[in-house]
Amino acid sequence: MMNKMIYADNAATTRLSDVALQAMLPYMQSEYGNASQPYSFARAPKTALAKARETIAKCIGALPEEIYFTSGGTESNNWVLRNSIFCGSEVLVSSVEHDSILNAAKEAEILDYYLPVDGDGIVSPETLINAISDRTALVSVMLANNEIGTIEPIAELATIAREHGCLFHTDAVQAVGHIEIDVHDLGVDFLSASAHKFNGPKGVGFLYVRKGITLHPLILGGAQESNMRAGTENVASIVAMAAALEENVLHLQEYKKYLRQLEECFFAQLAGESIKCHRNGALSSIPGNISVSFDGLSGEAILHRLDLKGIMISTGSACDSKDTQVSHVLKAINLPENLAKGTIRISFGKYNTQDDAIAIANALIQILKTR
Ligand code: PLP
Repeated sequence: MMNKMIYADNAATTRLSDVALQAMLPYMQSEYGNASQPYSFARAPKTALAKARETIAKCIGALPEEIYFTSGGTESNNWVLRNSIFCGSEVLVSSVEHDSILNAAKEAEILDYYLPVDGDGIVSPETLINAISDRTALVSVMLANNEIGTIEPIAELATIAREHGCLFHTDAVQAVGHIEIDVHDLGVDFLSASAHKFNGPKGVGFLYVRKGITLHPLILGGAQESNMRAGTENVASIVAMAAALEENVLHLQEYKKYLRQLEECFFAQLAGESIKCHRNGALSSIPGNISVSFDGLSGEAILHRLDLKGIMISTGSACDSKDTQVSHVLKAINLPENLAKGTIRISFGKYNTQDDAIAIANALIQILKTR
């Protein structure tokens, strides 16, 4: 008999929340007008866009005019990293960034240096002080890592950047809707977010751009988003993104506590069977994100065996058919190869239950005992 599916890969994507689904429905079938048109049928979508912008701004301590809607985290990151305002200057990015930062910086040929991290994946303020120079125009360090959950000391890093006259960008895709965020407390100039990581729809996100900074548009065409991001607005998804974020922010304390309980429950179950494992990442991490390594095992093999049991998780390694490649993040934290190859990522979300955490741990125990 097929097992009930247990989805524990919420760092990859999340289920759309009921609130978000209900919020988006009217803008797909009844209020489907183009928000840029001057007639009365455009009024409802136009008002909804303005309201969504206000809601999102409020959730991160920004002004509505500092929020630009995009197609997601990848576009928001590319918009900053490939911006012509940084043409010919140098950019510092951390060695544990998402590929949408690393590849964008490489392609723009602006990458100066990868900021190294410590064994927990943290970019220390001293590391940035040693790397930054008068030629640096932009520093980009993620708020939270997607593979190991580590939260970076963004406020301290952004202060150093400001003291050196540099702009600071943070990829907050894994953090928005999961931990408290205030752009002023963080002191950042740009912040990227993606709706599908916080129970909103896929293919929509936003970029926060601090008022007073001139960023050139990445996508040219119509005058949408104050001439900064062309293309007919994805009203239904934007409205749903705002609803999903508002709901998560409203219940943040409760969700954070709940996700920590699921983590504890998972590890208690493993400990009960004296399973040896190594948890990766810093203590200060995204609730629910567990990167764990098993010595001498293949993360790929674990993933496939869990899949057969109806459990969806992820590995810490990108694989090809012949060999398991260790991810750049696990390399950057200097995880020994025997552990790196046996790494999996379990990322719980608000729809997971304690039974899920116990079932995943039990399935793992079975796999480990029958290897
Ligand atoms: N940045 C980080 C840290 C991510 O985890 C992801 C998605 O996995 C992205 C950027 C890309 O976001 P999107 O899927 O919205 O393009």
